[in-house]
Amino acid sequence: MPMRIDILTLFPEMFEPILGTSIPKRAAQKGLVEYRLTNIRDFATDAHKSVDDKPFGGGPGMVMMAPVIFDAVEFVEKQDPRPAKRIVLSPQGKAFDQRTAEELAKQDRILLIAGHYEGFDERIIEGLEPMELSIGDYVLSGGELAAMVVVDAIVRLLPGALGAEDGAADETFTDGLIEHPQYTRPREFRGMNVPDVLLSGNHKLIAQWRLEQRKKRTQERRPDLWNRYQSGSGT
Ligand code: SAM
Repeated sequence: MPMRIDILTLFPEMFEPILGTSIPKRAAQKGLVEYRLTNIRDFATDAHKSVDDKPFGGGPGMVMMAPVIFDAVEFVEKQDPRPAKRIVLSPQGKAFDQRTAEELAKQDRILLIAGHYEGFDERIIEGLEPMELSIGDYVLSGGELAAMVVVDAIVRLLPGALGAEDGAADETFTDGLIEHPQYTRPREFRGMNVPDVLLSGNHKLIAQWRLEQRKKRTQERRPDLWNRYQSGSGT
């Protein structure tokens, strides 16, 4: 049975180009994953189709209302007996990383909620007890781009999602190191040459060179990852 990914959003149309292209599209075509987009506004109950309101206590912006989100979550969750891992996209959440993507890729069903405006009424977090995920220390206008980042990172890890041509084994973060430099044709370009070892045909030497490069790059560019790698805790 394909993994089911529900996305609750005010802008479902933003997802179509991303989920309908490249690896996310192929994974769905191969039956590994199924995407279900739900418009939160469909659960508004007043004539204006309101999903947000002014914050109690004053302040700028609008806050997404708890009843609409609860109704949307409960409606969508009832459609499938598998319990959904609930995720709210939020700049206040835990930093999303490769390890979290690997954990989420093992779930049968996930449900992502993308916020907008000033964010969510706190009772959405209190009552639904979702995992809160941030894709970085900056503030986006909405959770849609963040949800797409999370979905893409998860879906490419589903067994069979990547063809042999785009395997994930040596990829950055997979084992705590960033990737080695890559080259393709031509062998010489504007005076810059492909390292001889890659043309040697000696697989042992190539593997050795790549590992050295990965270590060197990680040390230079990501001392935080390098320290963790050295202390043996991987990513
Ligand atoms: N007022 C909120 C705060 O200071 O925490 C920010 C709200 S932001 C303008 C609107 C929505 O965008 C959030 O509810 C969240 O869903 C999404 N968002 C913004 N930045 C994000 C980030 N770095 N990671 C994940 N989601 C983010």
